[in-house]
Amino acid sequence: MGNPKAFLTVPRKEAGYRPIHDRIHDFGEVEQTLNTRDRQEQASRCMDCGVPFCHWACPLGNKDPEWNDALYRGEWEQAYKLLKKTNPFPEFTGRICPALCEKACVLYLTTGEAVTNRENEAAITERAFLEGYVTIEHPERNGKRVAVIGSGPAGLAAAQALNYMGYEVTVFEKNEAAGGLLRYGIPNFKLNKKIIDRRIEVMKQESVEFKYNCSVSSAAISSQLSATFDAVIIATGTPTARDLNIPGRDLKGVHLALELLSQQNRVLAGMEFSKDERITAKGKDVLVIGGGDTGSDCIGTAHRQGAKSVTQIEIMPKPPVGHNPATPWPNWPVILKTTSSHEEGCTRRWNINTLEFLGEKGHVTGVRVQPIDWKPNPAGGRPLMVEAGEPEIIKAELVLLAMGFLKPEHPEYPDNVFLCGDAASGASLVVRAIASGLQTAARVNSFLESVGSK
Ligand SMILES: Cc1cc2nc3c(=O)[nH]c(=O)nc-3n(C[C@H](O)[C@H](O)[C@H](O)COP(=O)(O)OP(=O)(O)OC[C@H]3O[C@@H](n4cnc5c(N)ncnc54)[C@H](O)[C@@H]3O)c2cc1C
Ligand code: SF4
Repeated sequence: MGNPKAFLTVPRKEAGYRPIHDRIHDFGEVEQTLNTRDRQEQASRCMDCGVPFCHWACPLGNKDPEWNDALYRGEWEQAYKLLKKTNPFPEFTGRICPALCEKACVLYLTTGEAVTNRENEAAITERAFLEGYVTIEHPERNGKRVAVIGSGPAGLAAAQALNYMGYEVTVFEKNEAAGGLLRYGIPNFKLNKKIIDRRIEVMKQESVEFKYNCSVSSAAISSQLSATFDAVIIATGTPTARDLNIPGRDLKGVHLALELLSQQNRVLAGMEFSKDERITAKGKDVLVIGGGDTGSDCIGTAHRQGAKSVTQIEIMPKPPVGHNPATPWPNWPVILKTTSSHEEGCTRRWNINTLEFLGEKGHVTGVRVQPIDWKPNPAGGRPLMVEAGEPEIIKAELVLLAMGFLKPEHPEYPDNVFLCGDAASGASLVVRAIASGLQTAARVNSFLESVGSK
């Protein structure tokens, strides 16, 4: 621990976002960076607690106090070496992790001002790429082959780990490029896609093979792949979004969130769409149904496309601001989250149920909604939804459904097939998907060591 008193004298300082007027017209990353002196000073706030809860809270078990200490001392290469021991892709988590570690930081629990672990992680990794600490590994081959289906963070983590163990790894991806939701879900203003390209290039140089535009069916996994590869990992995510099958669902202008987000990311990657195919918020009143992170990404995207207005509705009640006595430590604090996209302007409403999409000439023009309330259930269990006031109409020419994803079901596979990431857990987080990828790679390795090669 570098500076034992820094946490008393140095306040938490976040790099913050680019000013709204500057960022709202482009898809560049909104988050800024601190200068080197400020970044090291932020790292000095870490107290190296006797029992560091941040280790426990991070699904990867990142050793934040250790690399924060190296960072504070200006030993950037050492900081990166410590970080990469547990996290294969800190350039992703450093940008988009909700920082479970920070909500477990003793400074957060006592003063509300956690160490800026996530930003520190991104800074260490960017320095590592800049100064060449990210090296290309060429492990000795063990003669066994593993297929990974899906190149989201889970598949990439599993592929990298197995490659380092000496397996010959082939990644099959149905899209035209790697990254999964990192590339085709999360908007560029949160994660620039060059960050993914850079990592894929490293993995390719390390001999991981990527096969794109290659959709693999369950039948092919069971029959061909499981027979030709020593093991197969299924990391196909959660392909089915939760829909809202109410009257008017077939009107033009009502879309699943990912239809908008993936298309916008593809447009930014240079892909062209006809006028009919193109989904755009330009000049429209936009309604986002669903109050979570995917909804928030739709808001930021709609702003950048030139929406006239953006409204977000959520069926659940508004969470408390700052502190929620119902979710005390060590639970994840369920509190109001205001993202950079919300800051850019949006009407947010809670306790709103959606009844019907309204339209003219086949195109959506508005949505009939019902204000509701939640009452305790006398029989116990889930609270009961009751009407609270008259139904109303929210005007909208573009409606985006951001209500989560269904947990996928899988057939029974041969013993050498393993599930991983969101495909196994249901929709989750990038950091959990990476952790799952690493754990699955370890399981595959134990399995193959025990059975020998085909
Ligand atoms: C809009 C949005 C924003 C998000 N923002 C964040 C965030 O800020 N922070 C965070 O931590 N998490 C975020 N998440 C969640 C996070 O992206 C996921 O939890 C994570 O990407 C899951 O990783 P995965 O590798 O399991 O699956 P995915 O990332 O979904 O990747 C699955 C891959 O498998 C491929 N695939 C599917 N079927 C096949 C097939 N049959 N054959 C071949 N390939 C196939 C897909 O094309 C895809 O590339 C967000 C999710 C969404 C939808
Ligand atoms: S991956 Fe997320 S939870 Fe883990 S140390 Fe980094 S920011 Fe914290």
